[in-house]
Amino acid sequence: MEVKTARKRGFCFGVERAIDLAAQVLRAGRTGTIYSLGEVIHNRQVVDRLAEQGLKVLERPEDAQVGDTVLIRSHGVPPQVIEQLRLRGAEVVDATCVLVKRAQKLVQELAAEGYQVVVIGDENHPEVQGVLGYAPGIICVDRPDQLDRLPKKGRLGIVCQTTHSPELFGAMVGRIAAMGFAELKVINTLCLETRRRQEAAVELAGQVEVMFVLGGMQSANTRQLAQLCSEAGVTTYHLEGWEQFDPAMVAGKTVAGVTAGASTPEWIIEQFVDRLRKA
Ligand code: SF4
Repeated sequence: MEVKTARKRGFCFGVERAIDLAAQVLRAGRTGTIYSLGEVIHNRQVVDRLAEQGLKVLERPEDAQVGDTVLIRSHGVPPQVIEQLRLRGAEVVDATCVLVKRAQKLVQELAAEGYQVVVIGDENHPEVQGVLGYAPGIICVDRPDQLDRLPKKGRLGIVCQTTHSPELFGAMVGRIAAMGFAELKVINTLCLETRRRQEAAVELAGQVEVMFVLGGMQSANTRQLAQLCSEAGVTTYHLEGWEQFDPAMVAGKTVAGVTAGASTPEWIIEQFVDRLRKA
């Protein structure tokens, strides 16, 4: 069958760097245990491969021991966590994405300039939890019904979760502007990597009869890609890899599209595309 792939798909540069750093640390042959704090990415195959090479997952920073090496994944963590790891004698390898680091630095600067810092984002997302640790008293809002968390007046310094949609960011800023604050300093901290994958996926969905979106079931950006393709009106399957493929999925179809979330490595995409072409 004919298989087309999205022009932008798979690993973003932040995730790629985290995986590269993990591989470098593992190759360096350190003496203590090598951990990532939480799973490096939402991709079972990649996590399993790294585990085979010796990368363990540390669930809680307080479990690190002297001489261990702990990799901080691209989402970043609050600075207190890094401090805690260092105090326990662990070596920290920081793979926080540069765009997340920028957001962390900006909230510090906004707070130092006297703004009430506001993060538009999901307070349960690890990236947002990390950013919230960079200045005291940051307010996190993600929905209009949470705007009562804001003060009644003052100067607000606003940033956004990197992976949010520009539409959501803009809509929330619009609502905040209507609340009558004397000053709003809005800094665009969005990452366009997610957006580019979404646009490429929707574009491809318009050219094929069936779409396959590859990525971990827990990966929010993969689920979003699948949802957008489905909303574009094409039959869409969200799979982790070829093992979940069923020939019935392409019965009667001649053209298929393939894309993948930001935590899906290229080898999984290539393997899937090769096999699908022969299906
Ligand atoms: S999605 Fe963007 S912000 Fe997140 S890790 Fe990738 S490049 Fe960095």
